Amino acid sequence: MPGQADIGKRVGMIIVDSIKNILKRGAQSAKYKFSMIIGMIAMVHVCLVALFAIMGIVPMTLLNIGSVLLYLTCLWAIRHDRDQRRVFYATYLEIIVQSFAATLCIGWRFGFPQYVIALVPFGYYMCHTLIGNRRKYVIATVLGAAALVSFVSCRILSMFFGPLYHPEVSEGMVLGIYIFNTLCNFGFLFIVTVIFLVEMQTATNQLQKQNEILDTMAHIDPLTELYNRRSMHAFLNEVQDARENEPFCLIMCDIDDFKGINDTYGHDTGDNVLREIAHIVQSQVEKYGRACRWGGEEMLLLIYGDLEQARRIAENIRREVNGFGFCLGGQSIHCSITIGVAMHQEGDRIDHTITHADNNLYYGKRNGKNRVVSDMELKTG
Ligand code: GH3
Ligand code: MG
Ligand code: MG
Repeated sequence: MPGQADIGKRVGMIIVDSIKNILKRGAQSAKYKFSMIIGMIAMVHVCLVALFAIMGIVPMTLLNIGSVLLYLTCLWAIRHDRDQRRVFYATYLEIIVQSFAATLCIGWRFGFPQYVIALVPFGYYMCHTLIGNRRKYVIATVLGAAALVSFVSCRILSMFFGPLYHPEVSEGMVLGIYIFNTLCNFGFLFIVTVIFLVEMQTATNQLQKQNEILDTMAHIDPLTELYNRRSMHAFLNEVQDARENEPFCLIMCDIDDFKGINDTYGHDTGDNVLREIAHIVQSQVEKYGRACRWGGEEMLLLIYGDLEQARRIAENIRREVNGFGFCLGGQSIHCSITIGVAMHQEGDRIDHTITHADNNLYYGKRNGKNRVVSDMELKTG
């Protein structure tokens, strides 16, 4: 048997989940959100119809019945995709008229003018949502000013003329109605504020995700998933300018006879082979530096460390590519890669080291391919 605390916890969770779902749906659909707000206002008016009927104030009872009908029409209009701006203006005007009429009829102390104050943030929020251009600020401010004028004139009129009706209600009832109006206003302000915050958060999250995607697109080559040339260039300049100059080497790789693979097996297969080789390169380099697709089927790698370390990694890449059978419909495609390695000398320009690695690569191409060439190999012939 679940205890009372458990039941309370579960009910609490159900309520929180429901609120979250409502806010989520509201953030996704303007139609749903607006219907929810109008529905709540309509419910308040249903309560006011009962209240004024009990107090025997016929004009206010009729006015509130009219308001309920107006809001039902608004809900219909939202459901049938009519202009939501008209619904908003009608709501705004209705609340001003209601609050004005209720104050003139039964006086200031029941708290009806409060509704006009809550209108101001609601107006800015709705104008922001429904009106796309810069006019939204002007319209929201004009509406806010209208609410202010209505509030102040209500106060002045009720001071000079007193209420038109004097319902026979106890002080307790006056306080009860005042608290009811206050709760409705605070609830309304709370809901509009939370909806605004949820929407802002949702928009921020979306923007963040889009920024991440754009960032990836700007830095990563989509085929090989290695860094692209532009991003590597920026990175190399940063490394070169770094004060604590760690020794590093550059490695230039070029797949051997790749044109032949394209010509024999087609461009798509060529793409697949290139992707696989890029994965081999990346897995060998990731712990020691950074790899990029320099262009076509050439890759440039930066390895932190001395020439010996870079040669070892280059040799691993060469061996792994050479031993890899790229499968195509049961057929195995053989591939090899030629690699030039150059150590960056302090004070040298980075472009100079790139050219150096490139020259070593082309030495390897001219001398049989499927080789790793650095100054060490050149010295020993
Ligand atoms: P070598 O051994 O001298 O490097 O011969 P190679 O045929 O590889 O010649 P080279 O490096 O000059 O030519 C590279 C070829 O790679 C040319 C181009 O058709 C092909 N290639 C470049 N980029 C891509 C790509 O993204 N996908 C595919 N499938 N092929 C590419
Ligand atoms: Mg090539
Ligand atoms: Mg090439």
